[in-house]
Amino acid sequence: MCGIVGYTGNREAFPILIKGLHRMEYRGYDSAGVALLQGDEVTVHKCRGKVSDLEDFCKGKDLSGHLGIAHTRWATHGEPNDINAHPHFTSDHKIALIHNGIIENHLVLRKALEKAGYLFNSQTDTEVLIHLIEDIKKNECLDLAEAVRLALSQIIGTYAVIVISVDNPNTLIVARKGSPLIIGFGKDEYFAASDAAALVEYTRKVVYLNNEEMAVLTPGNDLIVKTIKNEIVPHSIQKLRMNINELEKGGFEHFMLKEIFEQPRTIRESMRGRLSVEREVVSLGGIVEYEERLLQARRFIIVACGTSYHAGLVAEHLFEDLIRIPVEVEYASEFRYRNPVIYDDDVVIAISQSGETADTLAAIELARQKGATILGICNVVGSSIARATHAGSYTHAGPEVGVASTKAFTSQVTVLILMALCLAKRKGKIAKNKYIRLIEELETIPDKVQKLLDNASAIEKIAQYIKDFNNVLYLGRNYNFPVALEGALKLKEISYIHAEGYPAAEMKHGPIALIDENMPVIVIATNNATYEKVVSNIHEVKTRKGKIISIVSEGNSEVRNLSDYVIEIPQTHEMFTPILASVPLQLLAYYVAVLRGKNVDQPRNLAKSVTVE
Ligand code: GLU
Repeated sequence: MCGIVGYTGNREAFPILIKGLHRMEYRGYDSAGVALLQGDEVTVHKCRGKVSDLEDFCKGKDLSGHLGIAHTRWATHGEPNDINAHPHFTSDHKIALIHNGIIENHLVLRKALEKAGYLFNSQTDTEVLIHLIEDIKKNECLDLAEAVRLALSQIIGTYAVIVISVDNPNTLIVARKGSPLIIGFGKDEYFAASDAAALVEYTRKVVYLNNEEMAVLTPGNDLIVKTIKNEIVPHSIQKLRMNINELEKGGFEHFMLKEIFEQPRTIRESMRGRLSVEREVVSLGGIVEYEERLLQARRFIIVACGTSYHAGLVAEHLFEDLIRIPVEVEYASEFRYRNPVIYDDDVVIAISQSGETADTLAAIELARQKGATILGICNVVGSSIARATHAGSYTHAGPEVGVASTKAFTSQVTVLILMALCLAKRKGKIAKNKYIRLIEELETIPDKVQKLLDNASAIEKIAQYIKDFNNVLYLGRNYNFPVALEGALKLKEISYIHAEGYPAAEMKHGPIALIDENMPVIVIATNNATYEKVVSNIHEVKTRKGKIISIVSEGNSEVRNLSDYVIEIPQTHEMFTPILASVPLQLLAYYVAVLRGKNVDQPRNLAKSVTVE
């Protein structure tokens, strides 16, 4: 879920490992640890808290060593504490291991190992793996790599692991299933990590391991990748295109704020090479090969989680409006366990910022078994979802470090708009002049986002007002309903204020009972087909003394007169309002969280890349 990193080579491992952990901090975690090979022992230092706490904890200790592994843990089994932190190690300190993921059959394995005399220190699922490796190695007189391979073949669940041992003083053993793992090549050195951000400083030459693959990394030896079933498989070396500056805050107080302000550029990046107003075309290179299948599709099923799910809801409107094709949007976590009806002429679109979301990956697998065509929309190049789908489009928003997604959302929506326009045209469902009008308008969106950002200080004032409430209701209809959901999600994620997004008209079927003078209601009331209806909903709130914060289209005075606070967004086509209206809501959540003194970039309990189900 969070991060693992390993190093073997001529350099001191500790600084590389710590830097790597810092680079992955954005993913959210609760403890950190490091293991270094020192003489005939593996020395382990670990503690609850931040990477900086680990650094403090390590001060004054001998941290030398050229082989090491380090971990940030997002606890799944066993509370976050010093003992449960990784690395885990054998009682003789000869082997140590770090793990991201979940070992589902840990209880059965633990019982068997306890019976065989192994003592467990921690409450983690991970600890079974180290004892299992130890047991297999000892009983079957195998080398470490073979013991790791056999141990992993007994594991049900997900893992990215790195193992080191005193018997192999230059070697990292790496393996993955479900959780990501990337191998980096240096000069007479190897790196391994769960996230390219930890490697980019040292190398751009990488290999992405596939599921159920492993490798033994020893400097001087060529890379050989094997499956857990012991078959050698080909691998391809890729070039990392990430830029180190993108991983820094660039003068902003938080990554989240930087990422909100990057949106004019990132939305443009999502459109670059895909939208040409002069040539009057929208094209998505990533789906060309499958275009016929998409045009013949019986229906589209969108699977996603969290913010990506909200982008999917926007797409439901877009695709139905423009392509006239039925669309279902599903939480991947529900879809995967529901025995859904999927036809082989369905198209499944999986949306995920990280491209590693475990539930979304499982949903893809299910759809693949049923013969559907699968498209991916991901931000992280080379990620598992990008590789598990038939085709797809990257959002090209650049690394998103803040845990609460902002620029990834607006880029997802942008790519989905492009997809809808492209397919609508190919299917002959859109009149030429409407198509041209829409692409001309789409091109202006980055500038309109900039205009909103230039006025960010106005949102700060509204944040002052919101910050002391315990509940906030967000209302929207049609294209703006997903915006209400996303606005509410942002606020709860980082400010810990309870917030609910609701379709405005549904309010009277329940939430209206909550309205009184202590309930701020944020209503997205921009110009669209349901504008008048939303105005009626505002009246319903006002009558019950609720406080209205409205988002309106520039120049609107009707709603302004009904509102306690107003945010204006530039005029645009209703299909593009989700992008414009979500920006002030991101800013609002950000400023409220800062005013409440919360850790904006790493909110409690949340992880950036949800690689566990
Ligand atoms: N399931 C393991 C634990 O709770 C690993 C969690 C992680 O991915 O950090 O320790």
